Parts: sequence; C-alpha cells; structure tokens
Amino acid sequence: MLDVNNITCRYGPVTALHDADFTLEGGEVLALVGTNGAGKSTLVMSIAGHIIPEHGNIVLDGEDITNIPPYQRASRGIGLVPEGRRLFPDLTVKENLITGGYVLPRTSESQRLEHVFEIFPRLYERANQLAGSLSGGEQQMLAFGRAIMLRPRVMLIDEISLGLMPSVIIECYAVLENLRSQNIAVILVDQNSDAALAFADKAIWLETGYVKWQGKAKHCPLLKESIVS
Ligand code: ATP
Repeated sequence: MLDVNNITCRYGPVTALHDADFTLEGGEVLALVGTNGAGKSTLVMSIAGHIIPEHGNIVLDGEDITNIPPYQRASRGIGLVPEGRRLFPDLTVKENLITGGYVLPRTSESQRLEHVFEIFPRLYERANQLAGSLSGGEQQMLAFGRAIMLRPRVMLIDEISLGLMPSVIIECYAVLENLRSQNIAVILVDQNSDAALAFADKAIWLETGYVKWQGKAKHCPLLKESIVS
C-alpha cells in the first residue's frame, strides 16, 4: 500500500533523515523508535506532506505522492494524529471532527461522523463542548476521531501516549487494534518504545537521522526482554 523509497529530508543545512526505506501493507503497524531528535517526526511529516524530501519518493497505491500537498494526501486517505494533537480549542468537538474530513464530499459527512461517534461514544456525549475544555485523554481521542473522519488508509500517529494516564494509553492502543482490524496501515511513534514495539509488526530504529536498525518489531534490540521466535 505504502512505499517509502530512500527518502532524505533536510531543514536548511541540517539533514534530519537519511535514506529511510520501507513498505507497509494494509493492516500492518510500523513503530518508529529512537531518542529525541532522531528524525521520527520528520519521517511522519514527510509522509503527511508537510516536509518535501530532498530525494527519494513516496508511493501510495502505485501513485507517486512525493510532491503533492498535504490536503491532497489527506483526500487520498493519509490521516495524521500530530504530536501535541493540534486541535482547534475554540471549536466544538463536532466542528473539530468536521474539519478533519473537509477534503471529502459533504454528502458522506453525517455517516462519517456517526462512524466516529460509534468508536468514541464519549465524543458523542461531548459533541457540543469546546475541544479546549476536554481532558488530555479526550483530546487525544478527538485527534484520532478527526483523522478517522478522512476514512484513512494510512494512519500516522506521532507521540500517541505523551502526557496521558495509563488507562487512556490502553484505550489508545485499543483504537489502534480497531484500525488494524479494518486493514488500515499504521505508523506509530511512542515515547514508550516498549509499548510501541510490543504492538507493532515492523520497526525502524532511528538515531540522529540514520536508520540504526529495521526489521520485525519483536526482534528490535531496543525492546526489553526482546521476544525471539
Ligand atoms: P522528538 O521525539 O524530540 O520529537 P524526533 O525523533 O521526532 O524527536 P525530529 O523532530 O524529526 O526528531 O527532529 C530531527 C532533527 O531535525 C532534530 O535535530 C531537530 O532539531 C531537527 N528539526 C526538526 N524540526 C526542525 C525545523 N523545523 N527546523 C530545523 N530543524 C528541525
């Protein structure tokens, strides 16, 4: 479904990512792990279209999307839950959800909203509440819901558990399991690399922009008590 071919990204003179290369099928989960500044967000944002790689290309379902803008990638089903969520605090829950699916036809909007409310009943209960008044966990659910409004084929999630309580983190992973069961490809960044690696199928370990290791998540050297089978 998604082919990322040798992409390198720069911010001015700084090369933040060197030659990242992987493929991902529907229903597969890729964990991006590594310390701060390793290049994880850069890789996520290059797939979402907010950073254009210096070289290499990104192919979705056979179409080269490397140079198309973020909103066109969104309409092709690349959903993003960005680091820090980036909600509109002064809009209601429902309005935030609608912004997530704006690139799709309005005719399917109520059906897509209904789908999100089925997954997140708490968002339904708070549909008319301002996003800025929600708890951190509810805001993360809203960020998920907003991306799900796109009917994503690939879901990018940057820092899934940052600042959340353990019970909410468990809920977030349950949402990921739901996405996986719907054949959605997931790229996941989590400061808790053990949790991400235990859940994912594949992993890329980045260090100062270089791929230090990649392979099956359960074999990643960073995974404590690495499961070898
Ligand atoms: P973190 O967990 O801290 O978010 P990360 O692995 O996601 O780290 P990136 O945010 O991709 O890492 O950053 C990779 C490198 O690129 C770092 O050296 C960072 O300082 C640099 N960088 C990131 N964004 C910019 C920017 N907008 N301008 C210049 N340099 C940047």
